[in-house]
Amino acid sequence: MLCNMNQGYNFFHVGFDDTDSSDGMCTTFLCYSAVKRLLKKKGITELLDYPHLIRLNPNIPWKTRGNAALCLAIRTTLSREAVFEFFRNIIKEFATSPRANSGLVLHEGLAIPNEVEEFATRALFSVMSLREARTIVGKFRMDSYELRNGQGLVGALASIGNLLRNDHTFELIAYRREARRKRHIELDKIVRMSERRFPETFSNYDRDHRRVMILPHGPDPVLCGIRGETPEGVSEAFRDLLPIGNLLGYMIFRSNQGTGEHLAHRLDLNNAMPYSSGTVVGSVIEDPMIERGGHVFFKIANAKGEISCACYEPTAEFRKAAAGLMRGDIIEASGGIRKPTSLHPKMLNLELLKPMRLQSLVTLANPKCPVCNVALKSKGKNQGFACEKCSYSSKTSEKTRIERKRSISPKLYMPPMKAHRHLTRPLHRYLLPPKEFKIPVELIDAWVQ
Ligand code: ATP
Repeated sequence: MLCNMNQGYNFFHVGFDDTDSSDGMCTTFLCYSAVKRLLKKKGITELLDYPHLIRLNPNIPWKTRGNAALCLAIRTTLSREAVFEFFRNIIKEFATSPRANSGLVLHEGLAIPNEVEEFATRALFSVMSLREARTIVGKFRMDSYELRNGQGLVGALASIGNLLRNDHTFELIAYRREARRKRHIELDKIVRMSERRFPETFSNYDRDHRRVMILPHGPDPVLCGIRGETPEGVSEAFRDLLPIGNLLGYMIFRSNQGTGEHLAHRLDLNNAMPYSSGTVVGSVIEDPMIERGGHVFFKIANAKGEISCACYEPTAEFRKAAAGLMRGDIIEASGGIRKPTSLHPKMLNLELLKPMRLQSLVTLANPKCPVCNVALKSKGKNQGFACEKCSYSSKTSEKTRIERKRSISPKLYMPPMKAHRHLTRPLHRYLLPPKEFKIPVELIDAWVQ
């Protein structure tokens, strides 16, 4: 049956990246426009899954914003040459910024080579070379196209290799008809939607800091983006916001956003490469120091080596948690490795902090006077204690140990929502059961409007 249904069709994965720049555009918009054009002629091309919106290593310095790459899995009666030509033309048309170093990769077939999956995994936490991407593209006879320096080929290939097999989320991204008109959705509506639709949707509104999270601020065509657990969830939340002025249309993407996927990598303190992301377990070897501006710095070590950790000002509560650490605490620290500078050594910029074993915080106090219950005064080293009030004196009394409550406990600490990265897994998502996904082919038309 499946065979008959697929007769006459060709299967492709198309990955593309780096079509935007800080002066406008957004690769998701290119994806939206491509899908609209492709689906216009019914029965010729169909999507095999929601478009994949893959966030790559967030600590890559040359990203424009959120290091996104896109992949479409399609079934089409078009030839390989026609599909490649279609996407190459659309990239030429949209990626006009002199800063867009676009890449396009076309892979024929449903199965993705292991090497490509493995490349995609490493692209989540390390710096990948364009040369390696080109070699893999050549080895598996994929078609490719590069604009300017072609760095987008890395993201294009990685987006094909990340199949979102495990945890994943969805994002409904709506686009503006006129990119120059200001985005406007009433605050009330957003706050109500955010409360009503949580946890089915998340990261809509940061109540603690009164910050709207669904509206971007740049010159790109995105009107708003709603993240959630299911396509239905994000659609319903979007409907809560309608009508919205200046709305061109929207598309639902399946994504690794909100999964914390980049932190699954174990950082090696013997060889922590600048710009890599991941997690390491270590013991605090230098008490936290709070520097000017409120930034907190401390050092951890394990059998492999040591590294300074930094928690910066905008991450208010998170920073307080880091400041509460002390020497000897065992912690799990996650984040990105910052390159050493003339001012700072190589540093782990923290995105997550989990104390695993905390030292007890003990202070020694002078004993109390058994007569009047005030603290005794020391008479000098090994001289004992005396009461200033009633002249009680003792040579044998000793200081008492008082165990104080630590300001932190063994739980997960992370920056507030307003400082989250696209890949940051919000706290509540750590409690979710493993997710399964089946592609609902019948719904294809509802994904894009
Ligand atoms: P937006 O979020 O608006 O789509 P962006 O932040 O995705 O923009 P891009 O303009 O796409 O930024 O630039 C990111 C560049 O970094 C791309 O060329 C991509 O191929 C490349 N890149 C992504 N991940 C890696 C990696 N792990 N190693 C090397 N290069 C990478």
